[in-house]
Amino acid sequence: MENSKLSNKIRVVINRKKLECCEQKHLQFYRGYASAVSQTLRKPSFQRFLDWIIKLERIEKADVTDIQVRVFPFEKENGNPVAGRCNSNAGVILLFPKRRSFLKKKLQNNQKENVHYYLKSRAMAAMIHELLHIKYKSNEGKVRQLTKKYFGIFSWHQNFDSKSANAPQRPLLAL
Ligand SMILES: [Zn+2]
Repeated sequence: MENSKLSNKIRVVINRKKLECCEQKHLQFYRGYASAVSQTLRKPSFQRFLDWIIKLERIEKADVTDIQVRVFPFEKENGNPVAGRCNSNAGVILLFPKRRSFLKKKLQNNQKENVHYYLKSRAMAAMIHELLHIKYKSNEGKVRQLTKKYFGIFSWHQNFDSKSANAPQRPLLAL
């Protein structure tokens, strides 16, 4: 069923209040970032992986109603950045970017490709983490433990696939 696909629930959402006070060049940066995250999350290989977790964990797909890729970052009161949030009752998942200033600093000491890889990995890990909150609610310990496990499996397969780029395409996680 097309409408039960998680990828159809992903949308980029902009906070209007933050938009008003955002400089044009910053806005361009954050819009580009959000669209890269949205594309990464929609990738068929990642969607297949999420489906595999959903099946294994017996998560009700219909319980996820909305996946919002937020354009602007969000921080806790103590200033710590938030990667994602989940309202498990409403089935709403929010994913937030890193600050532009943080990435500018990171780009001084790292190659652009590595920084992009980091951003995509961060978004995918946050997606897995918040998806697990749908089932495990506020059990942060369990969610963290499983996020580590599942993201580890996904990364391993990604690396394996890129090393054997000439090998015929095989379904991810045909274990
Ligand atoms: Zn959490």
